[in-house]
Formats: sequence, structure tokens, C-alpha cells
Amino acid sequence: MPQPRPMPVPTMRWLLAPTLALTLAGLLLAGCTLLKPAPAPDPLAVYRPALRPGFTLTPAQLDALLRYSITVQVDVAASAYTGTLELTLPITGTAPLNGLYFRLYPNLKQFGGSMTVGGARVDGKTVNFAYDAEGTAVHLALPAPLKPGSIAQVWLSFASKWPQREPGYYTIFGQSEEIVSLTNFYPILAGRRGNQWALDIASPLGDVGFHDAALYQVQVTAPADQVLAATGVAVTRTVAADGWAATRYVQGPAREFTLLLSPRFQTEEAVAYGARVVSYFLPEDAAAGHSALYNAVASLEVYSDQFGLYPYREMAVVQAPLTFHGMEFPGLDLIGSQDYNQHLDALEMLVVHEVAHQWWYNQVGSDQTANPWLDEGLAEFSMYFYQQGRHGQAAADLLRRQRWEAAVAANAQRGLDATIGKPVAEYPRDAYETIVYGKGALFFATLRDEMGEQAFQKLLRTYVERYRWRIATPTDFRVLAEEVAGRDLGALFRKWVEGSE
Ligand SMILES: [Zn+2]
Repeated sequence: MPQPRPMPVPTMRWLLAPTLALTLAGLLLAGCTLLKPAPAPDPLAVYRPALRPGFTLTPAQLDALLRYSITVQVDVAASAYTGTLELTLPITGTAPLNGLYFRLYPNLKQFGGSMTVGGARVDGKTVNFAYDAEGTAVHLALPAPLKPGSIAQVWLSFASKWPQREPGYYTIFGQSEEIVSLTNFYPILAGRRGNQWALDIASPLGDVGFHDAALYQVQVTAPADQVLAATGVAVTRTVAADGWAATRYVQGPAREFTLLLSPRFQTEEAVAYGARVVSYFLPEDAAAGHSALYNAVASLEVYSDQFGLYPYREMAVVQAPLTFHGMEFPGLDLIGSQDYNQHLDALEMLVVHEVAHQWWYNQVGSDQTANPWLDEGLAEFSMYFYQQGRHGQAAADLLRRQRWEAAVAANAQRGLDATIGKPVAEYPRDAYETIVYGKGALFFATLRDEMGEQAFQKLLRTYVERYRWRIATPTDFRVLAEEVAGRDLGALFRKWVEGSE
């Protein structure tokens, strides 16, 4: 018998082959996965409910944004609140920070509150703190300097009481006319001028200060019968059996977070270019509340056309105990309660001015203490576009003649004329608004005459695009105006803004 042929011994190669094939298949599959990566998580996901559809930030804008996470318990019966905040703080600029300053605006005389800090931690370590700037700031000592490019985590606890005011008292902070106004109610990182912290004690004439743009998550716990008007969008509201309600807001990017409460607020709402606009008013002023709503809708549409889209999904127009004055906050315009009744004739123009600040102050930030003309003059001049768009060219011309030219001329006759480029504190009280607002608006009107309508519109749109969520300086604005105009505008700026020596 022939020897049976030995069975071929399978070589390692053959044994390995199926494994190799499987491995290769695996690699190919993995390769396919690499070719089609899962989309990166949206860094703004938490804040999307507050942002208009399609809202984007450049990587540089995103990296520079602060992130506040605040919880606050508001005890209306006790005129007091307590809270904690966590701040994620990217260290920008060129120099390390040896300390941090937060502003405690409730301690300003014109706010009339009393605010204290309970404790502070930086990157998990308890740090010492000391009050500064007449109690309107707190300095956090750091165990080691914070280096540019790093990100610090700051934690603070705070408590504050608010004042009770008579009806008719200008109440930017506190309770009056059955409304609690909590503007700038939490410790907020102070603005900086280069490497200097801005610790000015604000004049009652102007804004309290200026702040870096930040993303906000805020949880407010308050008695459930209170109607809340706040910066941002309420994403959840939970009412507990004990009569307290917790409302969680998101907002961003924004300069500040502001909160008003009243058990008597009623609301009416409408839509402007996809944004929900809500008017808050007291029931006896419902007709004016309705007017305020539609003035806000119309101005938001005109400004979106002129300057670029409104960034948020919501805007609130809120009756507040500010006599006949207004005050701007991100996505929230406070309108003095007297403009809803005895000064009803001023309501439209006031709403329209405050809505313009959603571009000039909130989107494009500026140093409101040192250069108030940059946001106030521009917010005031924006009304010209509103008049043109809503009431026609004759109304816009009339605004210029009556509201600005006549007032500025009368002011000059009293010997109070000045250039527009000074800090708030350098103007006499009774000339501040005429010069910074009125003459400020006239400066922009003159610049528009000089540059032509189209170039001026390009200037404002480019100004928003380039400086959105940043702090622009007067020099930034002049350089951009000259870039768009293609020529030197130094003489015009010297005459109106800086003044010649
Ligand atoms: Zn203003």
C-alpha cells in the first residue's frame, strides 16, 4: 500500500489568515468611522434655548467668553437674597493676574443696598478677600498668579438686602411700586482697561461700569406668586409645595444678568423676526404695555435690518420703578413706570432708544464710564433709522432738528457746550444728556453726512461684526470709520469727540 500521503499541515500563514482578514475588516470599519466622525458636541448646547437659530461664535469669541453659573434665593418678604456663583474665567491678555476684583454694585449709594461676600475659592482653594472702592468691589487674593491662556474657576457666596423706596423714587435696585428691581445683583467680574481693573465709583448719571461678555446659567428661587422678568430664557420652572418656585434661566453671551419680580406683572407678547418679544406691565397700564410691545417689535426689526440680526430668541420690555428714565440690559429693556402714564408721550422714543442698546452696549461693548458717547450717542442716533423706517424721512429729519439740534443749541447758549468724548463724571449734571446723547447723536448724523449713507451703514455693520462680544474703544471706532471711508477723518473726530488742545 502506498504510504498515505500525509495530510498537509496547515501553516501558520493559513491559520492567521482568517484573523488577519477580520482584523483588516475591523480596521476598514474603523477607517470608515474615522472618515465620518460623529459631530463634535455643541459647546453652546446648554445656551441654545436662548440663542436665535443659526447663532454661531468664532473659536476666538468662544474661548474669550466667561461662564457664570448662579443660584439665588430671593426672599421678597425679607427684602433680601442669598446666592452662590461659579465663574469659569479664561485668563486673556498678556500679563498674569495677581488678584481678581468683583464689583458689588448693590453697595453703590444710588443702589442703596448692602451686600456682603461670605466666602471665596479659586481653583478649589479658599482665598482671602477684602472690600475695596467704598465697598463696591471685593478683591480676591490669589495663592499664585493666574497665567494668560489658563482657565480659572472662581466660587463666591453672597448675601444682600435691598431698599424699600417711595413710589416715584428712581429705583434701579430695590422695591418700589410693587416691583422688585434686582439689577447687577451678584458679584460681577470688574472690567479692565489694559492691565488695570476698572473700579470707578459710578456717577448716578451714567451706567455702573462695563463687563466682559459671558454665558449665563441662573437658578432663581422665589415665592411662587411672583412674576419674574429676567435676562435670558426660562428653561424650567418647578413649583414646590411650600410656595416657592425655582426657575432656571440660560442666556448668552451677555454683559450682565438682571432680574425683576412683581406679583402684579401682566404680560403681552408678539414676534419680531422670529424672536419672542414680551412686554411686562402693571395691570392699570395695560394699554401702554401694549404700545411698548409694538414699539419694541418695530425697533428690533429696523435695527436687525440696519445693523445685523438680534442674537437671542427673546427680548423683554419691562415697566420698572425708574420714574421716566430707561435702562438697558441684555435682552431686557427697563422702561420707567411714568412713561406708561403721565409721560406716555415719551414712551415710544424711550423704548426705541433702549432697544438700540441691544447692539450698542450688549453686542458691541464699550467703556461706559470713560466713553459714554460710544454707546449712548449711537443708541440715540439709532432712533433716526427707526423714525425713517417706521414713520418716514420727514419724521427722521424732525427728530434731528428738534430732539438733537435744538437741544444742543440751547445748551450752548447757556455756556455748557463741550465735546462728547469725556468720562461721565466730567460733565455738569444738567448738560450730560444733552451733550453725550444729543450731541453724540448729532456727531453720528454728521459722520453719516460726511461718509454717505451706504458707507455709514457699512461702518455700523462692520463695527458689529468686528467687535461683537468685545470691548471697542473710541480709537477702534475711528480707525474703522477711516478704513471704510478710505480717508482721514481726524479733523471731524477732533472737533466733536476729543477736542483740540
Ligand atoms: Zn441709553
